[in-house]
Amino acid sequence: MSATLATVSYIGATILFILSLGGLSNPESSRRGNLYGMIGMTIAVLATVFGPQVTPAGYVWIIAAMAVGASVGLYAARVVRMTQMPELVALMHSLVGLAAMLVGYANYIDPAAAGTFKGAEKTIHELEIYLGILIGAVTFSGSVIAFGKLSAKISGKPVLLPGRHWINLTGLLVVIGFGWSFINTHAVADGMIPLIVMTVIALAFGIHMVMAIGGADMPVVISMLNSYSGWAAAATGFMLNNDLLIVTGALVGSSGAILSYIMCRAMNRHFIAVIAGGFGTEGGVPAAAGGVQPAGEVVPILAAETAELLREAKNVIIVPGYGMAVAQAQHAVYEITRHLREKGVNVRFGIHPVAGRMPGHMNVLLAEARVPYDIVLEMDELNVDFPETDVAMVIGANDIVNPSAQDDPASPIAGMPVLEVWKARTSIVMKRSMASGYAGVDNPLFYKENNRMLFGDAKKMLDEVLVALKG
Ligand code: NDP
Repeated sequence: MSATLATVSYIGATILFILSLGGLSNPESSRRGNLYGMIGMTIAVLATVFGPQVTPAGYVWIIAAMAVGASVGLYAARVVRMTQMPELVALMHSLVGLAAMLVGYANYIDPAAAGTFKGAEKTIHELEIYLGILIGAVTFSGSVIAFGKLSAKISGKPVLLPGRHWINLTGLLVVIGFGWSFINTHAVADGMIPLIVMTVIALAFGIHMVMAIGGADMPVVISMLNSYSGWAAAATGFMLNNDLLIVTGALVGSSGAILSYIMCRAMNRHFIAVIAGGFGTEGGVPAAAGGVQPAGEVVPILAAETAELLREAKNVIIVPGYGMAVAQAQHAVYEITRHLREKGVNVRFGIHPVAGRMPGHMNVLLAEARVPYDIVLEMDELNVDFPETDVAMVIGANDIVNPSAQDDPASPIAGMPVLEVWKARTSIVMKRSMASGYAGVDNPLFYKENNRMLFGDAKKMLDEVLVALKG
């Protein structure tokens, strides 16, 4: 393939990636967005493999690497459950970071590149290598720790070393100092020492940064590492002189940063406070899930009584959460929704931006169950409607409907916007026990006078409700 054709293909792929991101911002256009992304990536891979930078001798390696990569990817896509997606994403980010590190080192010791760059060009090239390895190393080790925390292989509790901000600051100054000496060395062998020292510090920084972050902030960290992995890819693009990698990396980097910001807003957290870590340690409230003793009396309800309340309702709002994903209850939810709508009940869904365990988690599940998009609304669109709602049905959600976020300034989730289900005439919470949610805090909603608890697995309970509704 000629260089011109490769460039044209790259431009085409870039446009498709931008269209893909645009499409993914809305459930209705998300399938199309995914398709654009897939076509764009296919063009990008083909244009790179058959492009001018690859010699025929390299094909054996490339085909072997693609076979291994594709097999691992296919296997992961088949076995990973929806609830494990954040872990998988964290693991993938770590690979982007590792790739950036390895490309950086390979680029530095590449004998073909030696002597090619002179003066300012040499400085810029070395700066690219230094920054690429730095971002790559932080992304790699941070993502590995995030994977460990999300998969509960290491504790989700924040680990706070004394004077941790000073440790980070010292690390930063050392990295800057070694960066200076790196770009001022002439022989490759001399530059290796500052490069290795910086890599070790960056790896330690990645570990330290994510270890200090508490469970409830992990979604933001994943999105932040997503952003880092984009910048690492862009840095790799600079090192390899690959425009497509630069643009794609910048797209991932900036969209990840925007998502981190949106999530911080949804959890009422300041981005800097998240990075500084330690959420859940203040005020002596344990952040570990299930660590809180229930306080107060609750009113249990049966599936048949739930069906009765739903049958008599005119307006129903369903609030799904992590438990719906665990129980895989989305199809049962859809059946109930269809039945109620056929009977003229106005059923809508209220989606919190951080419901479940990843952004968009609930939207994906509801779309899979073919719930119409136009009745799936965001929290802000729906919160004003709760006072006019007869029944608010909470399915496996907890933190996102916790009134203490509004009422209790001492709560670890104080200030987090929540779905105000308690304002409905009756709220029904469907969950298995009185256990707390992800943030590990008790939920006063359960003890409210107009609240009922439907205890049991969400799927089983909804099946029972459907039978009762039809009966
Ligand atoms: P929560 O984790 O607060 O609560 C989920 C509830 O579901 C639990 O209390 C649990 O109670 C119940 N549950 C679990 N399994 C079942 C089941 N089989 N049937 C019925 N109920 C079940 O979830 P929310 O969605 O309300 O809130 C999300 C939380 O996760 C927030 O704190 C958010 O910050 C955090 N988070 C969000 C991410 C995101 O990007 N969306 C990523 C990572 C974390 P019980 O055990 O009694 O059944």
